[in-house]
Amino acid sequence: YSAEEQTGDYLFKIVLIGDSAVGKSNLLARFARDEFYPNSKSTIGVEFQTQKIGINGKEIKAQIWDTAGQERFRAVTSAYYRGAVGALLVYDISRRQTFDSVGRWLNELHTHSDMNVVTILVGNKSDLKDAREVTTAEGKALAEAQGLFFMETSALDSSNVAGAFQTVVKEIYSILS
Ligand code: GDP
Ligand code: MG
Repeated sequence: YSAEEQTGDYLFKIVLIGDSAVGKSNLLARFARDEFYPNSKSTIGVEFQTQKIGINGKEIKAQIWDTAGQERFRAVTSAYYRGAVGALLVYDISRRQTFDSVGRWLNELHTHSDMNVVTILVGNKSDLKDAREVTTAEGKALAEAQGLFFMETSALDSSNVAGAFQTVVKEIYSILS
């Protein structure tokens, strides 16, 4: 792990990956700023945002990277993944196609970063109950088969958003300590 220790604190690089429009930028906006953009376009993406998380009395800085929409062109670069120790692999529970892409994203992640990068599979938009196309059981089963953590989230109603980021950070921390 390439965690940097700065003045006794940790800095973990975490990347957001997954198909376009699954809610990556809004998960970060909700987690870091408690904001939500109902009609967001890829332009709201920032390069990364640093968020402090307290674990066991230690202050962890999570440097969370978001794409600027380049995943539409399958052109996420190796620089994006470089040094990442955590990943949130996001799909949209209301669009099966985004769940079908998970394998491709895992391949890309493992091509460009350490095999041991702590990864959580995130089924976002859990608020869209009537439009659901991927069951919770399917998400769980895929995560178990691939050795990933799993959570369903909603950037709209905030459910499990902090939990998903914290799960990754806690696991990285426990591996290091
Ligand atoms: P990204 O391309 O993966 O970064 O996706 P965005 O964060 O830009 O979100 C794409 C669209 O989905 C936007 O219109 C968001 O408002 C919407 N969206 C994101 N998260 C949620 C969510 O949890 N629930 C619902 N209903 N819509 C969401
Ligand atoms: Mg985005």
